[in-house]
Amino acid sequence: MADGDCDVLVVGSCMTDLVSQAPRLPKAGETIHGHRFFIGFGGKGANQCVQAARLGAQTAMVCKVGTDFFGDKYIENLKNNSVSTEFVSQTDRAATGAASIIVNDAGENAIVIVAGANLLLGEEELWGAEPLLGRAKVLVCQLEIRPDTSLQSLRMARERRVRTIFNPAPAVADLHPDFFRVSDIFCCNETEAEILTGSTVTGPEDAGKVGAELLRRGCCSVIVTLGPQGCVVLSAEDSSPLHIPTATVTALDTTGAGDSFIGALAFYMARYPTISLEEMARRANQVAAVSVQAVGTQTSYPWRKDLPPELF
Ligand code: ATP
Repeated sequence: MADGDCDVLVVGSCMTDLVSQAPRLPKAGETIHGHRFFIGFGGKGANQCVQAARLGAQTAMVCKVGTDFFGDKYIENLKNNSVSTEFVSQTDRAATGAASIIVNDAGENAIVIVAGANLLLGEEELWGAEPLLGRAKVLVCQLEIRPDTSLQSLRMARERRVRTIFNPAPAVADLHPDFFRVSDIFCCNETEAEILTGSTVTGPEDAGKVGAELLRRGCCSVIVTLGPQGCVVLSAEDSSPLHIPTATVTALDTTGAGDSFIGALAFYMARYPTISLEEMARRANQVAAVSVQAVGTQTSYPWRKDLPPELF
């Protein structure tokens, strides 16, 4: 990556989804025939990075995969999406992160996630990527890698005046309080907001209340995404919650919609830093609403050419 041109840097996870569709979920010890199998590229970190790249951001991933078939394929996938892989490392101490997913005909699933190499991403890799981190416009982190690695990268970004988006997913009730202090935007979905605050979130009004509580913990802005109801945005300067509805569409598969939203948000923060956060969230809603109309995770993410010009 040439000097000075990193819009969005993601320190996060790569997971290979191994999906089997079967009439029903097998019982313990049982073998059954499924009717379809496919491999998908997932992991919250890579999903968010790929969406930002597809919108036109210069992106890079700091992540770890195994020295194995899935690791090689994942690196190829990042390259195919124009994501810089300069700071993607491979290890023979663990396998590439994988999610084995079985989906039955009723749409229910059983999933085993093995984070594998993702959990070996640490301080050494962060310092290796420090020159790029220092000149990125936006850093994005989640919780599918070791929390101390995420927190350290957010701190390093803060010290270097790089803007930060933190997505506390998958959520933990005992999140280290410093995560709030180093987040310019703290972006979570309803479930994560509930786990973090202990309060139920069913719509924009509740989201405004829990958003205000999260804001008080020290971040600059909070976004709570609400699926088909769009999102609620709150900022420290004006803490009154603003509900931003999304487009009404026929959803085919909402898997990964939250990552599409965050990838788009990172793109707008890096490329259109002067537009308001409400406007960034409104546009990110539109991008994510496109993603729910196609099947799969990264396979459903739109490219810039698929979107209306007013989003750019
Ligand atoms: P997931 O876990 O499925 O990746 P999430 O729960 O993290 O998603 P959501 O809040 O469901 O995230 O959705 C994120 C954004 O995607 C919403 O704010 C909205 O913009 C868009 N979205 C999700 N579902 C729909 C839908 N049915 N119709 C239109 N937009 C949607």
